[in-house]
Amino acid sequence: MRINLKHLKTFARCPTAFCFEVREKELGASEEERIILNVISKAVLQVMETSFRVDWRRIVGWVDKEVFKNTDVYCQEQYGAAKRSSEHILLALAKWYEQIYLQWTAEAFVNVPLGVETSGIFIEDKAPVVSLMNPIVCTHIGRNYYDTKKEYHRDIEIRGLAWLVSEHLKCNEVIMQCLSLGKRGRLEINIINFDSDSLRRTSSYIDNMCRIIKKKYFYPSVGENCLSCKYYSKCNL
Ligand code: SF4
Repeated sequence: MRINLKHLKTFARCPTAFCFEVREKELGASEEERIILNVISKAVLQVMETSFRVDWRRIVGWVDKEVFKNTDVYCQEQYGAAKRSSEHILLALAKWYEQIYLQWTAEAFVNVPLGVETSGIFIEDKAPVVSLMNPIVCTHIGRNYYDTKKEYHRDIEIRGLAWLVSEHLKCNEVIMQCLSLGKRGRLEINIINFDSDSLRRTSSYIDNMCRIIKKKYFYPSVGENCLSCKYYSKCNL
């Protein structure tokens, strides 16, 4: 059985969710996230291949090409929506470009597939960028926006990715560069350090979670979140 970190996050909130159908599409990245991820990967690849950084105008071109490729530019409504989306993506990318990309010197790999088997379940995901620094730096892009670093530490998607990187590269410290997308082009950049202790704790947490999933225990986490849970009507509480 294979599950990705987004699935694991759903199950971490309530393991009973595993008894219901969890559709991939619901857990997928939004179009804006997909475009930002593609542009960042292309820009990092370019540095690796040519040792020159991409200039900002080129990034604007890439974004517009992606955003407008399926848009009818003669339809005012579609054109307006695409224009807004392009502005939001560029606002978010501008922050990344200035604060991270212009200082880029390390060797890096993009879209790295990672996977580890634990208690009979294969946990897999992709790291958008892994920079070979000391310690290793891994980029995470998502809508996980938190007020405190502690909450970033607790997010199983982020700590799970750090754990996958550490298992693959056999390192005992990983720095997560969290790019959190907010509304209207807002982007927060947080640097979260996972040392050997927190990686070990993550490993045993994921292992316990996998045991529950594997044995298909009916293990409902009944609480306030039940009221807003999409499985509420199906859940036999
Ligand atoms: S309704 Fe409550 S117990 Fe049932 S799956 Fe949702 S969160 Fe879990």
